[in-house]
Amino acid sequence: MNAVRLLEFLVSKPSVSGNEGKIATSLSGILCREGFKIQREGNSIWFTLGKRDRPHVLLLSHLDTVPPCASWNSDPFKAHIEDGKIIGLGANDAKGSVAAMILTAREIQHRDPEGSITFAFVADEESGGEGIRTIKPKLGHIDAALVGEPTGLQICTAQRGLLILRCIAHGKASHAAHAHLGENAIHKAARDISRLAVMEFEAHEDLGATRAEVTQITGGLARNQVPDRCDFVDLRTTPNLDHATVAAEIGARLESEVAIHSHRYEPVATNASEVVVCAALEVADASAGIGSVTTSDWAFLKGIPTVKVGPGNTNRSHRPNEYLLLSELEKGVVFYNRFIHTYFRMAAAEVVHV
Ligand SMILES: [Zn+2]
Repeated sequence: MNAVRLLEFLVSKPSVSGNEGKIATSLSGILCREGFKIQREGNSIWFTLGKRDRPHVLLLSHLDTVPPCASWNSDPFKAHIEDGKIIGLGANDAKGSVAAMILTAREIQHRDPEGSITFAFVADEESGGEGIRTIKPKLGHIDAALVGEPTGLQICTAQRGLLILRCIAHGKASHAAHAHLGENAIHKAARDISRLAVMEFEAHEDLGATRAEVTQITGGLARNQVPDRCDFVDLRTTPNLDHATVAAEIGARLESEVAIHSHRYEPVATNASEVVVCAALEVADASAGIGSVTTSDWAFLKGIPTVKVGPGNTNRSHRPNEYLLLSELEKGVVFYNRFIHTYFRMAAAEVVHV
């Protein structure tokens, strides 16, 4: 097994979110043959290496993909190699990270690391994070985590959250010809939408400002009736602000009723002084972490010092002709390998220091 063959294999197993059964079964087979003692819950699989319990580091990535969009030039479920690229759905997001982690696991399999490492490849990342949320309680205490996503091997230390609000403007219906007897809910919503457009929240140093984006609006039943209700969904990402506070602040400023529709993707950030950040930055030969506007399963690891880093480029995700460069895959394997060694070395020094 080499990284390229493994990635081709993973891409050729269709695993659109919600349909990861086949990839989970075939990958379990491969990992068992390689001697890993895997555990499986639903379509998420994991295994742990190392005889010493602590420190315990988690390397996590996902097996699922989004559905293929139109305009692919080739079969998205058949990996092919062209011009130094592996092209296929999920090659970049995030099967490249999965392949690089498995190769890393093979390299350290027969050594005795200074702690333990759990490798977890989960389902449902693209559809709500059910995979990681289900297995996390079974993983035991985790001292640090690395989430494999395409970051160009840059160290991501902050990630935006996602808060979806449902705003409902209530009005009073009347015949459009007697508008003065009614109260137009669409007019009320329009005033609130203008308020949202100029609302400002405290900016985060790596991720910038939080903004409200109105992405959908529904209201009005008939052309000749003053509408009594108008809903607008406000989809927003928040970096350093508490979701409940943001929702309350918006609620206080709008005429409309404001309800939280979804808040499970909390924004997350890891302090630069954490060992996991220092180790990752040293391996990347970088001086500082970056912020990431896309969310991931990291949102469900709140409280665990975590970095998000992996081979590939986030701009290629969820798009036709997704690819990973062979050179990126190779660098990914080297990176994860060095990361584990560096993390354990630094964590040991930290203990002595204390
Ligand atoms: Zn991803």
